Amino acid sequence: MSISQPFQNIIKFTSQFTWRRRLCTSHYTMSSKHTPARRIEGLDKNVWVAFTSVAADPSIVNLGQGYPDIPPPSYVKEALAKAVAVDRLNQYTRGFGHPSLVKALSQVYGKVYGRHIDPLKEVLVTVGGYGSLFNSIQGLVEEGDEVIIIEPFFDCYVPMVRMAGAKPVLIPLRPSGTKTVTSADWYLDPDELSDKFTSRTKAIIINTPNNPIGKVFTRDELQMIADLCIKHDTLCFSDEVYEWLVYKGHQHVKIATLPGMWDRTITIGSAGKTFSVTGWKLGWSIGPEHLIKHLQTVMMNSLYTCPTPLQEAVAQGFLVNYELMGQPECYFSSLAEELEGKRDRLAAVLQEVGMTPIIPEGGYFMLVDVTSLNQDLTHMTDDEAYDYKFVKWMIKEKKLAAIPVTAFVGEESRKQFEKYIRLCFIKKDCTLEAAGNILKNWRKV
Ligand code: PMP
Ligand code: GLN
Repeated sequence: MSISQPFQNIIKFTSQFTWRRRLCTSHYTMSSKHTPARRIEGLDKNVWVAFTSVAADPSIVNLGQGYPDIPPPSYVKEALAKAVAVDRLNQYTRGFGHPSLVKALSQVYGKVYGRHIDPLKEVLVTVGGYGSLFNSIQGLVEEGDEVIIIEPFFDCYVPMVRMAGAKPVLIPLRPSGTKTVTSADWYLDPDELSDKFTSRTKAIIINTPNNPIGKVFTRDELQMIADLCIKHDTLCFSDEVYEWLVYKGHQHVKIATLPGMWDRTITIGSAGKTFSVTGWKLGWSIGPEHLIKHLQTVMMNSLYTCPTPLQEAVAQGFLVNYELMGQPECYFSSLAEELEGKRDRLAAVLQEVGMTPIIPEGGYFMLVDVTSLNQDLTHMTDDEAYDYKFVKWMIKEKKLAAIPVTAFVGEESRKQFEKYIRLCFIKKDCTLEAAGNILKNWRKV
């Protein structure tokens, strides 16, 4: 069987390293001036770089990288077209956030938090949720600090903490029984978490709803985390980019709204997730002035500002939905409703073919235990976790793309998570149907 283009890309990507190594050792003596800065040493592998090239091949059904193939709401696209038609909006805007966007954010989140949010001092607009995480960690985490991160975690947390010179301290979610059915069956052990806090702990990063497992932390779980933050006087970076995508029976709680937490929490949001426009790369941090001002310092000395027309369009998107909040037509709830159906249909197909999905309570990813397939991959000799091999094999042989879950955990938890792959379900019904057909035909080769 010939190797498809995307799979060749993965091989090419992996072999680039070998090629570079050879170039360095045999033909080129690298001077010490050419070596990478210590802060990025060992951070040169990235799951998105390795696996997203598959998206380019239309013959692959792509449930890998998390982005919608459903269209964004027409009013945000129209708002962007209108914005670029206004000359003034094609020029730089206020560095910490375009005035109409920070105002709209303060209105919407004022309602959510139940408090006044100062648009100029308590909000910072950045380049995506990534930018918000980066500004938070660069602005507030010091060399030698420790930062607690819950596994499985969105993969950039660890390299960002390392780039700040700090130490990531990992703690896994644990399955509550032998058979885990939903993401609610994964829990954080309070004693284990308490043991991770030391005098060097600067912050904990939480992510609810979580990527990749879909866990929505309950109020009690968040209260337990909050109590430890208060006891040890630590900060909390709360990544809530999937805040609106919470399914029936569950509720998104903002840890910043728990007593004593506003003053120590930075909450991270994303326009990409809120309006299904991941390519727009706009995000924001919300928190108390005494913390946000340090993120602003990073922002003004690095990127300075974000694209004006995109900010204007996102502001318009928020204003439309501000009026509708609490009603079914509001995009924040209608998207969740639409996705819940997609989640359930995908889970049903997976179960039908004997795979074991973990039903997410929120977000747009589903973990799937592939153990029951007994796929022998011993012919793949790479020293890689089983899930990496499985996904590469699945892309090549089944033309279905996913993301390996050990990309979201540290070395010590690799064994616990390597039987899972992650599927993204914010996709058109025809895309999910195509994936379903691949799954149904799985054993008929
Ligand atoms: N946090 C989480 C949990 C994510 O899944 C992502 C991926 N989009 C981000 C942050 C980054 O968001 P953005 O695309 O807005 O940079
Ligand atoms: N957040 C998205 C995901 O988890 C994409 C991240 C990325 O492409 N860097 O799939």
